[in-house]
Amino acid sequence: MPDFDAIIIGTGQAGPSLAFRLAAAGMKVAVAERNLVGGTCVNTGCTPTKALVASAYAAQMARRGAEYGVVTAGEVGVDMRRVKARKDAIVAQSRDGLAAALDNAANISLFRGHARFVSPREVEIGGERLRAERIFVNVGGRALVPDMPGIDQVPYLNNSSMMAIDVLPPHLIIVGGSYIGLEFGQMYRRFGSEVTIIEMAPRLVHREDADVSAAIRDIVEHDGVRIRLNAECISLATRGKDIVAKVDCIEDAPEVVGSHLLLAVGRRPNTDDLGLDQAGIRCDERGYIVVDDQLQTNVPGIWALGDCNGKGAFTHTAYNDFEIVAANLLDHDRRQVSDRTPAYALYTDPPLGRVGMTMSEARNSGRPVLVGERPMTRVARAIEKGETQGFMRILVDRDTKEILGASLLGTGCDEAVHSILDLMNAKAPYPIMQRAMHIHPTVCELLPTILGDLKPLD
Ligand SMILES: Cc1cc2nc3c(=O)[nH]c(=O)nc-3n(C[C@H](O)[C@H](O)[C@H](O)COP(=O)(O)OP(=O)(O)OC[C@H]3O[C@@H](n4cnc5c(N)ncnc54)[C@H](O)[C@@H]3O)c2cc1C
Repeated sequence: MPDFDAIIIGTGQAGPSLAFRLAAAGMKVAVAERNLVGGTCVNTGCTPTKALVASAYAAQMARRGAEYGVVTAGEVGVDMRRVKARKDAIVAQSRDGLAAALDNAANISLFRGHARFVSPREVEIGGERLRAERIFVNVGGRALVPDMPGIDQVPYLNNSSMMAIDVLPPHLIIVGGSYIGLEFGQMYRRFGSEVTIIEMAPRLVHREDADVSAAIRDIVEHDGVRIRLNAECISLATRGKDIVAKVDCIEDAPEVVGSHLLLAVGRRPNTDDLGLDQAGIRCDERGYIVVDDQLQTNVPGIWALGDCNGKGAFTHTAYNDFEIVAANLLDHDRRQVSDRTPAYALYTDPPLGRVGMTMSEARNSGRPVLVGERPMTRVARAIEKGETQGFMRILVDRDTKEILGASLLGTGCDEAVHSILDLMNAKAPYPIMQRAMHIHPTVCELLPTILGDLKPLD
């Protein structure tokens, strides 16, 4: 049985970086991957979707050319084969680069196949047993298939199968009005599809503040995406070549008829076929591996990183998990998950940059909260770019002067939010930013202005 110092299961956003660090420290490392090197982000998540979002943005700006004085000859067309080829090339470069780096690294052996625990120190991959004193689980997650009436009667797509599409769906129905559904929805609308998003909740991205949800709804509806909220019971069927989605499960209720169906209702961790019971590793009721603040499972010598531990659902949280584990193991630096400031972005156009608390979380915190806001119609850079949808909001604690959170919805806000994120991470009081000289004209230059005009949150 081959003996290693460490086994890493999965090549997502934590595993490979950890493998390189452990190998550089002189450890003999086995890495297992059952599918594509790079995992979700590289192959079916962040990288391809943001490449597609960029194509959709180009199409939109071409259509808007006349507003900017740009003359285009005739109607703007989108060649989906070329859109896909561009996306595939970007993904391939990232995946192949990582695969080559793993293949060529000293001290790292890449095993292709599905890995399962057979004991707390042993993993089986394709009939071969590997042993190590340290095992790191980085198995990520996959699209959830909801238990909806008729789901087994209709063809459906998910974020993975969407990556093979090189034609324009005449009418794409998307079930799920959160991050993934909204990104695909706006992008396909801009490619030229009819798009209907069906959401069970009373509003889109319901974890955000109600006015943020409403502004995002305005943004995608402005592009022509149709939104159907409060879909209390969704049932699916085929009618000829069409897919029919009923949103009330009531006879004769209005229905949405489309050509393709995308399910974007959430993700589930890839922990159901991992032999966790053979190792005695504890999961919660949703299948996420239970870990402590340093990402150790209940079994000494086994860690869980990335989406499968339920402590984050983003590439940056998975990568931060790698940094925490590496710091504790190799650098005698006691980093922990609870030290990180929650942050993420939604890549609609314009994007939402989020950090810390929402307004409703701040209100419920019982702290004395001050709030500052500014519509993007009053941001010079947004006006100059002709992209004035959205608004920016910052929340602070009146007494401690701590920044509590921000929702920045507008052009460039996926970048601008980092000004606030860094300040929050440094636990710096907000007047520090107020005194900073920001560059004109940028979206960020208005952040000190917003902080100079704070009002009590009612
Ligand atoms: C459509 C979409 C868009 C997204 N966009 C963004 C974004 O813009 N920004 C962002 O931060 N996040 C985004 N995400 C989320 C991001 O992709 C994930 O949070 C991130 O990939 C999680 O990384 P991970 O390391 O936990 O696992 P993954 O990237 O999922 O990798 C896990 C790997 O483990 C392998 N594996 C699983 N089980 C086994 C096994 N038993 N044996 C061997 N190998 C196994 C899998 O094949 C996979 O390669 C997006 C997700 C989706 C679906």
